[in-house]
Amino acid sequence: MENKDLLTIVEQYGSPVYVYDSTKIVSQYQRLTNAFSGVKKLKLNYAVKALSNLSILKLMKSLGAGLDTVSIQEVRMGLQVGLDPKNIIFTPNGVSLEEIEEVSALGVQINIDNLSILEQFGTRHPNVPVCVRINPHIMAGGNSKISVGHIDSKFGISVHQTPHILRIVENTGMKINGVHMHTGSDILDIDVFIQASDILFDVAKQFKNLEFIDFGSGFKVPYKEGDIETNIEELGEKLAVRFNAFCKSYGKNLELGFEPGKFLVSESGYFLAKVNVVKQTTSTVFAGVDSGFNHLIRPMFYESYHRIENISKPDGRKRFYSVVGYICETDTFGTNRQIAEITEGDVLAFKNAGAYCFSMASNYNSRFRPAEVLWHNDEAKLIRKRETFDDLLANQIEVDIAIEESIVE
Ligand SMILES: *Cc1c(COP(=O)(O)O)cnc(C)c1O
Repeated sequence: MENKDLLTIVEQYGSPVYVYDSTKIVSQYQRLTNAFSGVKKLKLNYAVKALSNLSILKLMKSLGAGLDTVSIQEVRMGLQVGLDPKNIIFTPNGVSLEEIEEVSALGVQINIDNLSILEQFGTRHPNVPVCVRINPHIMAGGNSKISVGHIDSKFGISVHQTPHILRIVENTGMKINGVHMHTGSDILDIDVFIQASDILFDVAKQFKNLEFIDFGSGFKVPYKEGDIETNIEELGEKLAVRFNAFCKSYGKNLELGFEPGKFLVSESGYFLAKVNVVKQTTSTVFAGVDSGFNHLIRPMFYESYHRIENISKPDGRKRFYSVVGYICETDTFGTNRQIAEITEGDVLAFKNAGAYCFSMASNYNSRFRPAEVLWHNDEAKLIRKRETFDDLLANQIEVDIAIEESIVE
């Protein structure tokens, strides 16, 4: 997308606004598919929580993706856009047995990540095949805030508890049709990932009724200049060899699954905000935009880095800025950023705003959540309206409150 397209969108739909370029989503999807072309049956289930707009889900569906979901609401959104429930996997953590049963009744593949629920579900529904989420105790990435496969993680059933899983299977007569792992959001070292997959193969061979093995996600994408990203092509090549060898010894061509979120949508997204004020202090120059962590919380929540560009005047002399929001709390998007000289009213573009940005937005400070626009076939399509004052009040109930005069005095 060109800057002029982004600026036109701000003119048309106001600021702040999220924009997603469908071309990038499609090319990332194809890149992943190509990387694993050595595998006979590949299944990509898009992780809905990264960006859950219905139009994005439709785009994924048209690409042939299934969905990875973590709540019954995400499941319902998938069904709403016409996905076959068989193409949805439910991988929740810490949700109730009732919710799992409700989702299962919709025909969705269940993935269970603790022994207690596994035993209860298996006892009540021995005929429903389920997948089990294994924790291989491997730390695939550096950031412990987003790594979920290490030993202290709350996710998955410990690989050391495999004998207990097998006992539950035997006692209940249930069928395990898949094994799953998801080590977190930052695979940097492919050999570590391969090590984790070897552990999963070891678990897998102990189950006789498998249809698929799901390796979760954690593909890292570049955020900063010079950032290393997961070498998908190398991973695809190495894993395919091992997967095919496993299938051969298992005696069946299983499906290889992944659940990418960030990889598919992160780089497609731009968050556009307008500079309300340029404020010189004794130590820095602040550029204050018409947004805050209510709309984009990742920099404050995960210390994540989003490149920031002045798309109104991209050719100006570069200066150092601290880019901050308008929330009445510290909400710094970036410090010491070299950005083309900013004047009030300029539009800044925050890159990599596709994954975990809008989906984590809130109404803090009683602000509206922004509009979302999908750039598709060189056309801007509004896929979510900006909220209104009525939306803010929609569920509030204004009860009659009267404090007795004597107390007020
Ligand atoms: C969040 C999540 C994903 C997606 O992770 P990304 O890093 O965005 O690709 C996949 N699987 C499960 C179970 C998840 O919780």
